Amino acid sequence: MKGLSPDGGLFMPELIQQLNDSFFNSISKYSIQEIGIEAAKQFVADEIPKSELKRIVDNAINFDAPLVELDDNISILELFHGPTLAFKDFGARFMARTMSYFLRNSEVEVNILVATSGDTGSAVASGFYGVEGINVYLLYPSGKVSEIQEKQLTTFDKNITALEIDGTFDDCQRLVKAAFVDNEINSEMKLSSANSINIARLIPQSFYYFNAYKQIKDKSKDIYFSIPSGNLGNMTAGLMAKKMGLPITKFIGATNSNSIFTEFIKSGEYSPRPSIETLSNAMDVGAPSNLARIQSLYNEHSIILKDISSNTHNDSQTIEKIKEISKKYNYIIDPHGAVGLLALEQFVNENVIKDYNGIVLETAHPAKFKGTVENALNIEIELPDELKKSVDKEKQSIILSSSFSDFKSYLLQKI
Ligand SMILES: *Cc1c(COP(=O)(O)O)cnc(C)c1O
Repeated sequence: MKGLSPDGGLFMPELIQQLNDSFFNSISKYSIQEIGIEAAKQFVADEIPKSELKRIVDNAINFDAPLVELDDNISILELFHGPTLAFKDFGARFMARTMSYFLRNSEVEVNILVATSGDTGSAVASGFYGVEGINVYLLYPSGKVSEIQEKQLTTFDKNITALEIDGTFDDCQRLVKAAFVDNEINSEMKLSSANSINIARLIPQSFYYFNAYKQIKDKSKDIYFSIPSGNLGNMTAGLMAKKMGLPITKFIGATNSNSIFTEFIKSGEYSPRPSIETLSNAMDVGAPSNLARIQSLYNEHSIILKDISSNTHNDSQTIEKIKEISKKYNYIIDPHGAVGLLALEQFVNENVIKDYNGIVLETAHPAKFKGTVENALNIEIELPDELKKSVDKEKQSIILSSSFSDFKSYLLQKI
């Protein structure tokens, strides 16, 4: 329920145990929900009874994550089959149901603050929509999310409020973090977070790494996951899956021109800086919040390098890749997935790897980035029904400056 620990750090499991060999040997018989229960069990321990955990997972993960083969080496893990068409649905839906389980006997309202660069906000809003006892405040950078993303953020009513911040995503994240450590706000209202800093988001994100493994035909070949990365929540969930025993050879952190993580991997130096806008905007992060978790999983930079590689590509390379994939495989990939594919290809080329299982996480449905994909391919993309519904609704947002005092007075007058 607490986003951050009282000292301002991130919560991490003290121990991550390996799952049994028997689980991996018979994984082909497990559904994604059954895999989820196996993976979540050790983190939940006896805080949630088994039958409740099953109900939470079955309800939260009520969609699939298929692995689509492009060729013998490369597959796309489609993580956009949830209601808001991005992988964030896994984390947000699981967290919403877990929180409402813990709040079942509570009289106090919980206020969830979410900084969003686009997809988190709508997944969290959709996951928590109409849940009693929970209010959600979505902070998004004005003018810096796609039109469709903005509609998805601003067309909820009831317990969801969209705050349009005159600033960048990093400003939104800064405001949320400042609220969590502000004594006055915390004495007046109960706050919680739903960003990927919340460990309850990361646990369910490990499920689809196992579920992808299940779908790999030749498991004897090395497995490389390429992860379009921003705040590194997705990467952290994958590393947790590896700790649980999933045989992943290497993770490739794919960054756009916000290449802070790539520089960190290559040099060991962490130099956060303001984010810049790109076509893969959900990865426009200048100070990746989960880096501390990755560092906590490894003692030294040299050990990180055994498991993680990273490289960066810009917008024009992204567009070229979207075109090439459509032509070569007749597959429409979104800008984030395209960055992931570029990173995988660079990695296997540089390391002269010929025969492998390369899995690119396709983090969002291409229709969410309609303009970019349509321009690249000269086609029209049909909006899935869920998106059409939000696009037809009226935008409703509250405009705030990026100063903490404005945000604080807004929150305090809500009590
Ligand atoms: C959030 C998001 C990312 C980045 O994921 P992190 O876990 O923050 O690294 C990548 N692609 C899409 C479409 C996203 O919504």
